[in-house]
Amino acid sequence: MIQDPVVIVGSGHSGVAVAAGLRTRGWEGGILLVDAENELPYERPPLSKELLKDGAPDESAVLRKEKFYADKGIGRLAGVTVESIDRNGRTVLLSDGTRQAYHRLVIATGSRARPLTVPGAGLVGVRSLRTRGDALELKRLLVPGARVAIIGAGYIGLEVAAAAAAKGCEVTVLEFQDRVMSRVTSAPVSRHFEQLHERHGVRFVFGAAVTSIDGRQRAERVTVADGTVFPADVVLAGIGVLPNQELAQDAGIDCRDGILVDGDGRTSDPAVYASGDVTRFISPTDGVSRRLECIQNALAQADRVAAHITGQAAGEPEIPWFWTVQHGVRLQTAGVRQPEDQVIVRGEPSCGKFSVVYLRDGRLAAVDTIANLADFRTAKRLIAQGARIDPVLAADPGSPLAEAISGTPNHSDADLAAARS
Ligand code: NAP
Repeated sequence: MIQDPVVIVGSGHSGVAVAAGLRTRGWEGGILLVDAENELPYERPPLSKELLKDGAPDESAVLRKEKFYADKGIGRLAGVTVESIDRNGRTVLLSDGTRQAYHRLVIATGSRARPLTVPGAGLVGVRSLRTRGDALELKRLLVPGARVAIIGAGYIGLEVAAAAAAKGCEVTVLEFQDRVMSRVTSAPVSRHFEQLHERHGVRFVFGAAVTSIDGRQRAERVTVADGTVFPADVVLAGIGVLPNQELAQDAGIDCRDGILVDGDGRTSDPAVYASGDVTRFISPTDGVSRRLECIQNALAQADRVAAHITGQAAGEPEIPWFWTVQHGVRLQTAGVRQPEDQVIVRGEPSCGKFSVVYLRDGRLAAVDTIANLADFRTAKRLIAQGARIDPVLAADPGSPLAEAISGTPNHSDADLAAARS
């Protein structure tokens, strides 16, 4: 047993980054990563993209090579779960029946696919996508001519729709809402991606509430609330995620749709931290309480946790950013939009290069960019500065986004010069 190490539960992007960050910041004590999966921690973005392609190797890139863990003295328990936390005794009970003491505990258990609960959800051919194993199973089912019904038009549903269409599957996407990616983007971006998918043969059915999946042993058809039936050999549910917070909740740590943490990743127990998808926190940039399901947050929070444990100052909070690639088209988002934000389209979507700017109380809150790296980079900086934006100037794609800052008294000449640099 390692003596009172930092024990990290979960070896996703965030858990591994906490371990690496502790060493970078000079932590000399023990570090133990407890990982339910029995393989080297791996990258998740390829699972719904490259990994599904024909000819792609079955391995997605590992986060760190085996040698890294050995060289850095980071212990790994693979194929082991933490069953419970004894906060008074500062120990965790492991699934192999042993107890492990901790100096500090970091819960980085991530999230799981929200399960589909309709009748027939357990039939063969009904899948979700979260792990590399899930992706490899799905890849095997995506053969030319397969009729694929995708439930949910979020990132997962759309990235898989693109991969399946490229493999010659007949793809139908069934979505509750009236447009794609409605949780994360505005109507102009949704329409752009709907048209892109339709050009590749993907069919959308909006306002579709799935009521059952039927078949003998295998899925054969999906029925929606108005009675329409869609033949399907493969059904993928991409209907969101649930935070894996039960371990913390059962130990009496404050949770509310996510483990509640402060800006340093501290939970309601000073010896316990949480990091990544499983957390809920108040955003330092806009004051909104949310869970952020993205790698940028997983890494940024991990660094703050490592800084706090080692008693060092963390860097400035980073503006959240996200990306997705569908049919080769990249959507990059900086900041987090709210449905009530003012929406300004910058450029002509039919040209394939444009941005959508979101203003909240006149300030830049978020930007979606399609094939526009310059706007993406500028936006991150302007959002961090709380820049006020002139909507008319922002709508002009011929003028750099930094030139759209309004000359209000809220910005000094120095601010403007810095933003435009
Ligand atoms: P998501 O982005 O939340 O999208 C799920 C969509 O499915 C929502 O539009 C949702 O509508 C809809 N939906 C929910 N229940 C439904 C039902 N029964 N029938 C039809 N539609 C339904 O979640 P996701 O696409 O499953 O992604 C899962 C996670 O993986 C997320 O954390 C995501 O950020 C992450 N991910 C990210 C990337 C990326 O960043 N590129 C790629 C893959 C995965 P409502 O909003 O009304 O519930």
